[in-house]
Amino acid sequence: MGTRGREIVGMNVAELVQILNRAYASEWLAYYQYWLGAKLIKGPMKDAVAAELTLHATEELNHGTLLANRIVQLGGVPVTTPKDWFALSPCKYDAPDDPYVGVLLDQNIAGEQCAITAYKSLMDLTKDKDMVTYNLALTILEQEVEHEEDLQSLKEDLDLLLGRRNG
Ligand code: FE
Ligand code: FE
Ligand code: MG
Repeated sequence: MGTRGREIVGMNVAELVQILNRAYASEWLAYYQYWLGAKLIKGPMKDAVAAELTLHATEELNHGTLLANRIVQLGGVPVTTPKDWFALSPCKYDAPDDPYVGVLLDQNIAGEQCAITAYKSLMDLTKDKDMVTYNLALTILEQEVEHEEDLQSLKEDLDLLLGRRNG
């Protein structure tokens, strides 16, 4: 715990920790959704899409690491029980029960769009109040924006491959 580091936070630290824990829970769910989807995926372009899903899984886990570190810095405790992830996460978990490539892409695109909304609001909340968390949210947001584009671009390729031109 860093006392001066916490003093310069111009907002309620307990509330901030709670919001960071929500994002932290989402990252674990996103990690698992990607990780398992990459194992189960079926259909055209499955190898290319599986490689991207696996990479995104590792990047989501890294977001979780960054958030856990910030929560600890703020004197908080990252959610200790996976059972709480569903209740805390602002973004839903979409089980890869239908492993068709197009379905997995759509599910993960929706997840990225939820993540983008969540990190944008974390930035709005911390702007001019907590520069460290603001910068962290920006770093993660940049990668979520990249994720959305990666998946939408794969979906576009899949649609072209299947002769659908309007996606
Ligand atoms: Fe993430
Ligand atoms: Fe992402
Ligand atoms: Mg990517």
